[in-house]
Amino acid sequence: MLIGVPKEIKNHEYRVGLTPSGARELVAHGHKVLVQSQAGLGIGFADEQYLQAGATIVSRPEEIFARAEMIIKVKEPQPAECRMLRPGQLLFTYLHLAPDPEQTQLLLESGAVAIAYETVTDERGGLPLLAPMSEVAGRMAVQAGAHALEKAQGGRGVLLGGVPGVAPARVVVLGGGVVGLNAARMALGLGADVTLLDKSLARLKEIDMLFGSGIKTLMSNSSNIEEAVRDADLIIGAVLVPGAAAPKLLNRAMLKQLRAGAVLVDVAIDQGGCFETSRPTTHQHPTYIVDGIVHYCVANMPGGVARTATMALTNATLPYALELADKGWPQALQDNAHLRHGLNICCGKVTHAAVARDLGYDY
Ligand code: NAD
Repeated sequence: MLIGVPKEIKNHEYRVGLTPSGARELVAHGHKVLVQSQAGLGIGFADEQYLQAGATIVSRPEEIFARAEMIIKVKEPQPAECRMLRPGQLLFTYLHLAPDPEQTQLLLESGAVAIAYETVTDERGGLPLLAPMSEVAGRMAVQAGAHALEKAQGGRGVLLGGVPGVAPARVVVLGGGVVGLNAARMALGLGADVTLLDKSLARLKEIDMLFGSGIKTLMSNSSNIEEAVRDADLIIGAVLVPGAAAPKLLNRAMLKQLRAGAVLVDVAIDQGGCFETSRPTTHQHPTYIVDGIVHYCVANMPGGVARTATMALTNATLPYALELADKGWPQALQDNAHLRHGLNICCGKVTHAAVARDLGYDY
C-alpha cells in the first residue's frame, strides 16, 4: 500500500504521524511510504532519517494526498486537508468529531474512510490509542506542577521531594485512570507524599495493589476531597466521565481554604476542566493565578513534549497501521472489531453511534 505522512499544519503542532522507525517497519512489510519534507524536523527527525528508513520525501502535501491510499496523521485534518482527501482514501488520525460539525461535514463530503485513534478499543475496554497521550500528560502534570510551585511562578516555594530534615510536598491526585496513575507514579518517584482519590472502588484496589503503602487512596466524595485538598501543595485533576463534561470537584469558594500558593494542574481541561476556576491555557502562557492559587490548564499537554509524544503515539498506532496496510481497510475492519470501533466516517456516512447521536446524523 502507498502510505502518506503529511507535515502537521495546526498551530504549534510539532508531532508527526509516523517516526522514521515506524516508516521502516511499514517498508519492511512491502509498503511504500511518502513523507512530506521537514514533517519531523521540529522534533529532530530529519528527512535523511526517513530516507534511510526507506521512505520517499516529497515537497508538497498535495502530492501526498493525491497519491497515498492511507494518510497517517496526528491532529484532525484542517479544512484545507479535508478538501484534498479523495473518495475511498483512508485517513488514520485523531478526529474528535462529536464537538466538530464542520470537520464532520467536510469529511463526509470528501468520501474518504476516516478511522479515529480515540475510538479504537482493546479487549480490556480501554482506548489504546488515547492512552499514550494520557500517560504523557499524567507524567508531565507533576513536572509542570513542580515548576509552578516555585516561588517565581507564584507557587508556595516548595520542593516536591523535600530534603533530609524537611517534609516532602503533599500531592493530591483526583482520578486514578491512566493520567492519575502516571501522575501518582511520577510524584512518588520524586519523593512526594501522595494521596489519590477515585470514585471507583475497583480502581482504588488496583492502585493499592500497585503501590502498596507508598500511596494513600481515598474514595472520591465531597468530604474526602475537601479534607485532602486543604493541606495539599499540588492538586492534579485527572477525572473522566466518558462522553460527558468533567465533573466540577472544586468550586471557587474552596480556593480560599487551600494553602496560599498551592498549585492546581487541571489535566481534564480538554473536557471542560474539573475545577470551577479552570480555563484553557497554552504552552506559551501555561499558568494564571486566582485567589492566590496557581492554575495550570494546558489543553494539549503532550504537544509540549512532542518528540516523546510522537514516539509513544507511533508505538501504539503502528500495529494497527500495519494491519490496515497489509490487509486493506475492508478486510482489516472485518477481522478486528476493536479497529472497527475506530471507524467514524465511511464513504459519505457517519459510522460511529456517539458521533451520529451528538451531531444528529442517521446511524
Ligand atoms: P481514564 O478514563 O483512564 O480515567 C479517569 C478516571 O476518573 C477513572 O478512573 C474514573 O473512575 C475517575 N473518575 C470519574 N469521576 C470521578 C470523580 N468524580 N472523582 C474521582 N475520580 C473520578 O481517563 P484518563 O485517560 O486518565 O484521562 C483523564 C482526563 O485527562 C480526560 O479528560 C482526558 O481527556 C484528559 N487528558 C488531557 C490531556 C491534556 O493535554 N490536557 C492529555 C491527555 C488526557
